Amino acid sequence: MKKFKTESKKLLDLMINSIYTNREIFLRELISNASDAVDKLYFKSLTDSDVSLAKDELAIHVSFDKDARTVTVSDSGIGMTKDEMDKNLGTIAHSGSLEFKSENVEAQGDDVDIIGQFGVGFYSSFMVAKEVRVVSRAFGSDEAWEWKSDGIEGYTISETTREGHGTDVILTLKDNTDEDDYDAYLSEWGLKNLIKKYSNYVRYPITMECSKT
Ligand code: ADP
Ligand code: MG
Repeated sequence: MKKFKTESKKLLDLMINSIYTNREIFLRELISNASDAVDKLYFKSLTDSDVSLAKDELAIHVSFDKDARTVTVSDSGIGMTKDEMDKNLGTIAHSGSLEFKSENVEAQGDDVDIIGQFGVGFYSSFMVAKEVRVVSRAFGSDEAWEWKSDGIEGYTISETTREGHGTDVILTLKDNTDEDDYDAYLSEWGLKNLIKKYSNYVRYPITMECSKT
């Protein structure tokens, strides 16, 4: 297992334990990353005549499995190599917004929703998930890798398989408690509402497929 960098651990602690309670924005962050990944591949296709894309590759898929308690966001975008996974998911990309958070927590008091306007990124998954798996195959590569973490100390990366390029981010949701209802994300209605609320501007179609309802 590889350990998270100190910065990342700080942000993880902040997000999981205290100040930011608007957990539902995790989906916005995952969809925005999927959209960025599709963008990157799309722009590559414009400048590189070896790359030709089918229209249905320019889409984002959201699915859930009620029994397994998983929510999955998939794209057929640029994907990540093993090194990219290690670099991009093992380190926090938003040290700027981390500083912003730390400085403003007290000033904001209860009204911390302004943070919702900032990208809090991939790690926001751990606000709702007890385990996050990222399965990815980089465009042009025939290897696929799985990054896996419980968001506490660190992560592992191991070899896996994936049909085609792109990325699946698979969240295993935390168990419900009296105060916290994560089951809301295990429904078509709940997820569609979040997509409408936070991801309406995304330029690619977002499709949803429901394995178990
Ligand atoms: P940001 O999107 O602002 O860069 P994130 O924390 O949301 O920060 O994501 C960190 C990085 O992880 C991204 O910059 C990207 O390199 C990588 N990444 C995350 N999701 C995906 C994805 N679906 N496909 C490819 N790369 C991804
Ligand atoms: Mg992002």
